[in-house]
Parts: sequence; C-alpha cells; structure tokens
Amino acid sequence: MPVLFIGHGSPMNIVYHNTYTRSLQTLGASLPKPEAILVVSAHWLTQGTFVCSADKPEQIYDFYGFPDELYKVQYRPPGAPAIAKSIVHELGFKNIQVDAEWGIDHASWAVLIYMYPKADIPVLEMSLDVTMNEQEHYTLAQKLSFLRKQNVLIIGSGNIVHNLHRMEYKVEAKPYPWALEFDKYIKDALLQKDIDRLLHYKKLSPVGKIAVPTNDHYLPMLYSAALQEEGEQIDFFHESIQNASISMRCFIVQ
Ligand code: ZN
Repeated sequence: MPVLFIGHGSPMNIVYHNTYTRSLQTLGASLPKPEAILVVSAHWLTQGTFVCSADKPEQIYDFYGFPDELYKVQYRPPGAPAIAKSIVHELGFKNIQVDAEWGIDHASWAVLIYMYPKADIPVLEMSLDVTMNEQEHYTLAQKLSFLRKQNVLIIGSGNIVHNLHRMEYKVEAKPYPWALEFDKYIKDALLQKDIDRLLHYKKLSPVGKIAVPTNDHYLPMLYSAALQEEGEQIDFFHESIQNASISMRCFIVQ
C-alpha cells in the first residue's frame, strides 16, 4: 500500500471546491481499496503515543467559530480495534497504548470526505507524543511499515508550513516569501532523501522557525517520509499555499 502525506489546512476546505479538493477526489478514486486507514493526526497531541481503538469512532468537530454548514458534514466510518491493538503489540514500547475514547478529528475526516466519500473503510488515528523529538518520531514511524503489507493506508495529516498567526483571511492571498522558501526546502529535502534537513529544519533552514512555529502540523509529514522504502519514490500530487502561510503540499510514497 502506498503512504500519503496530506496538507489539510483550514477547516473551510471541508466546504470548498478547489484544485486541492479535486486532487484528493482524483487520488481516492485511483488508489487500491485499503483494508483500513491509519491517520497520524496533527490534532491529537498527547503525552505518550495513543492509537484509537474505538469500534465506532466519534466524529470530532475540533474547530470553533466556523460557518454552521461545516458542523453538519457527517463522516462516520467504522473503526479498526484489531489493527489498533496490533500496532501497540508490534511497536512494543511502554509509552504506546490503545485509547477507545478518541474518535476521528478533522485531520482525518476533512480529508477522507473527498478521498473516500462513502465512509465504508475503517479508520483509526494515531496521536503525536509531545514529549518526543523529531528523531524519535521518525524512528517510531519507520516501525509502522508492517501495516503497509497488511493493506493499511497510512496517512500523515498536517501541513509543512503552518503559521496561523501570520495567516491571511483570503484563501488565495499572496504567499509569504518565507512560506514558499520553506515549502521548497522540504520538497527538495524529500526528493534528495536528505533526512538531516527534514529533522533539523530549525537549524538548517533560515526560515524554519517562522514556517514551523510549533511542530504539531509538521510531524505527520515526518511519519510519511520515514516510511519510504528503498527503491520507492515520492510524487507531489498537489502543491499550493493557502491563506499566505499554510502549505497544502501533498505527496504519495510508492
Ligand atoms: Zn490542522
């Protein structure tokens, strides 16, 4: 099974029809049907790593002050408790456990409504352990590769450039030069398989700190990059900057 990284951006994309949402629709229609979907979510931050084991994961509307129509969109896929347990077992760290309380936040469903609109494929999420550094996340992510052989589609869902303090109201606003620069820095690092540049972006990119003020949306990209196997390539199936400061770059590893 391929691995994806998807930039999810503003929740407004839930009701937009644009080149980004169309690229997700096209991708979903072209992929082999997975057994289940594991989303590494920028919106589930925890101490220790958790994997959602709910039978029927609750749809979480984890955004506030948006138009009513966003809160009416329903996405209710089944969960995948057996796969959640197998992840905890396989990884075998003391700091990883299942959690049946969490459901699926908008890092999952805002993307999956376009890729798999029927909501007929089981979905589970994995959290980001805020106590781990980039290298530790990268190492953990590599251990998820067994899922690919079991037909599980792994999606990192975040954003490579994500500075909400600098964002413009208009989605088509002119991108900041530093947003474009950092987006390209990561694109090049991915194509060159330059892991150092991915892990140490704050030191190695002069604009790393402004493009990634907090790493919650950045880390899911590291999970997807870490799963690239020998001989596989990365293709960017969408690239754009929304609201001047959010990179919507998406890629597939296969
Ligand atoms: Zn987000």
